[in-house]
Amino acid sequence: MKQLVVISGKGGTGKTTLVAAFAALAQSKVLADCDVDAADLHLLLDPKVERSEAFEGSKVAILDQEKCIQCGACLASCRFGAISESGGLFAIDPFRCEGCGVCAFVCPAGAIKLEPRLSGRIYISSTRFGPLVHGQLEPGEGTSGKLVSLVKQRAMELAQLEGRDLIIVDGAPGIGCPVIASLGNATAALIVTEPTLSGIHDMERVLGVARHFRTRAFICINKCDLNREMARRIEEFAAERGLEVVGQIPYDDAVTEALVQGKTVVEHASDSPVVQEIELMWSRLAEVLELGEATRTGPSHRGRG
Ligand code: SF4
Ligand code: SF4
Repeated sequence: MKQLVVISGKGGTGKTTLVAAFAALAQSKVLADCDVDAADLHLLLDPKVERSEAFEGSKVAILDQEKCIQCGACLASCRFGAISESGGLFAIDPFRCEGCGVCAFVCPAGAIKLEPRLSGRIYISSTRFGPLVHGQLEPGEGTSGKLVSLVKQRAMELAQLEGRDLIIVDGAPGIGCPVIASLGNATAALIVTEPTLSGIHDMERVLGVARHFRTRAFICINKCDLNREMARRIEEFAAERGLEVVGQIPYDDAVTEALVQGKTVVEHASDSPVVQEIELMWSRLAEVLELGEATRTGPSHRGRG
């Protein structure tokens, strides 16, 4: 099973637009939205949720008043200000509690225990382009790396179950824990960047992460015609490091029009220059991923499953 992970050094580079376009082009795949802090692939794919599961990625301390002997040790030891006392009664604020467990450790009466906390949900849905696995964190939850790993695990299980040999992952932006989790087991990473100074800088940072995990990386310059000089610098940067620029996508209003209509650009403007470039890029990626004919599809096809 092959995994293509699409990432970027920051949000807003057009990463999800490209993943949605690949979804329309590829056959026999599972889609995984690992941008769990701001999942938006589902907005373009209009998924029908088939099933969902709770994600318990963190813990919360629970205090048993009947066992509490009001010694105050927990209040003195909580560094997060989650414990308060009023009229001799101690209480834990679940929104402040970080689940570190120190209070349970110091409590002489065994009155505090840690319990799993609902941190988010994972959804397995059907879309017009095949199955989609995506996750959503509860507000304020910070365990996105764990949720990303679980989304990928569910996508792999589904692909195995249904005999699909490709997973296309909309990875988390940036260089933190979620993007590291996105890259786990990846066959290749497509780094999407824009021709700006900050775009080059962000690309370098995320490339460093991909290289650290020995993930084969490719580069796509989105809106390449907005600054030809910067696009040329990205090409030079890639050439110096032996990286292939697999796509140079021009700016096109058709991309925004497609987003507004909740469609992929492949559906909205199939004969536009931007789609032709995306199709060429997909053909090249399918080649390097060594996808079978049943999965890659040609530019004249549209992947419905
Ligand atoms: S688990 Fe940690 S953060 Fe939560 S109340 Fe106990 S000491 Fe405070
Ligand atoms: S440490 Fe335990 S016994 Fe002491 S106040 Fe906290 S909950 Fe009560």
